[in-house]
Amino acid sequence: MTSPQQYRARQYRAQGLVLKNVPFGEADLLVTVFSRETGKLKVVAKGARRSNSRMVGHFEPLTVTKLALSRGRNLDIVNQVEVSHNFAPLRNDLTLLTKGLYVLELVDGFGSEASPNQPLYDLSLEVLNALVENPNPDLVLRYFELRLLQVSGFMPELFLCVECRQPLEPEQHRFSPDAGGTLCLNCAPAGVQVRHLSLRALKVLRLLHRNRIDQLPQLQINDALEQEVKSLLGSAIDYWIDKEIRSNSFLKQLEHWSKTRVSSKAASPTQQPED
Ligand SMILES: [Zn+2]
Repeated sequence: MTSPQQYRARQYRAQGLVLKNVPFGEADLLVTVFSRETGKLKVVAKGARRSNSRMVGHFEPLTVTKLALSRGRNLDIVNQVEVSHNFAPLRNDLTLLTKGLYVLELVDGFGSEASPNQPLYDLSLEVLNALVENPNPDLVLRYFELRLLQVSGFMPELFLCVECRQPLEPEQHRFSPDAGGTLCLNCAPAGVQVRHLSLRALKVLRLLHRNRIDQLPQLQINDALEQEVKSLLGSAIDYWIDKEIRSNSFLKQLEHWSKTRVSSKAASPTQQPED
C-alpha cells in the first residue's frame, strides 16, 4: 500500500519552457521542458495529439507552462498543464521565430537533465522577451551566446591573456575558444585553435559582458564586425556544446540505456512509460 508520504513524492509541480516535442506512441507527445526547478525534463503528455485533448497546443516550443506531474519509472507523466506565456509576437514573425528556436536549441544543448540551472532559465526568458522588444535581435542573440557561456561556467576571458595573465594591449590580442578566451601575441599554447580578434570585436564582447540586454547602448555595427563577433562566439559555443553533449547528455543517455536494459529484463519491453 502507498503511504501518504510516498504518494506526495510521486507527484510534483514544475514551471518550464517547452523546448521541443515529438510524437510518442499512438497519441502521446514526448515533450522536452527546461524547468526552473529541475533542469531539463523529458515528460509524456498522454493523448495530447488527439484533437479533443485538453492539452492540444500546450506543448509547442516557446511556450512557458506550469505542469503537475507524476513520476513514472522511466519518464514522468503530465497530469495538468497551464500555459503562462507563449511569446506570440515571436511566432507571428518567421525571422524572429527562427531566432527564438535557435535560443531553444542552445538551451537544450547546454541544459542538463536533473540538474537545475536557474540563471540559464531566467536568461532564456529574458532573451526571448528581448527578441520581441529589442530593435536589434541579432545583437540580442550575441548577448545570449556570451551569457549562455557565462551561466554554464564557460565564460571566455576578455581582459587578460589566458596564458601569461598579462593585461591585453590594444590590437595585440587573439582569441582561442579552447584555451578559454583572449591571448596576447606572445603566447601560443600548443594544440589549440587561435583566431584573429580585432579591437572593435573585443570592445563589443566587453560591452555585451558589462551590460544587461535592456541597458546596451545603441551600437553601430557594420556587417564585417557583426560577422566577426558572431563567428568568435559561435566557435566558443561549438567547442563547449560539443564537450557538453559528449560528457553530459551522452553519459546520461548511457546511464538511461543501462537502467532500461536492467528493467527490461524484469518486465516485458514496452514503448509506453508506466504511470
Ligand atoms: Zn600571453
